[in-house]
Amino acid sequence: MDNDELYQQVILDHNRHPRNFREISPCSCQAEGYNPLCGDHLNVYVRLSQEGIVEEVAFQGDGCAISKASASMMTAAMQGKTVEEARALCAEFHSLITKELDPGKETHHLGKLTVFSGIWKYPSRVKCAILPWHTLKGALDNKPTVSTE
Ligand code: ZN
Repeated sequence: MDNDELYQQVILDHNRHPRNFREISPCSCQAEGYNPLCGDHLNVYVRLSQEGIVEEVAFQGDGCAISKASASMMTAAMQGKTVEEARALCAEFHSLITKELDPGKETHHLGKLTVFSGIWKYPSRVKCAILPWHTLKGALDNKPTVSTE
């Protein structure tokens, strides 16, 4: 199976069964993200431990399959990370989908998220994929509203 086929399967699976698709209440921080180009709109919720470990990330909202799958995979990938590691993973994901990072050649912590590596070929889709990550960063930075535009 090549990466394109794997990508299709993963997007379909996470779109049908999004992980952590709920509100966390009360949460440590949250943000609302918009991608006006596509119409994606989601809320990201974060629960941190007293030691600053990401205990839980969840999301809710409406969006295309790519934004939803990206959000779903992000929530799973963030569990147990320190806030610093969470920020670093956001940066790595951004590098991956803008083709600055070659997952086959460079070390990274992206795991299954590398299925998004071919998305730079579709610039309008890059914004869909990055939206949940920008929104999570907004939550950690106490920026309540985030837009890709
Ligand atoms: Zn979208």
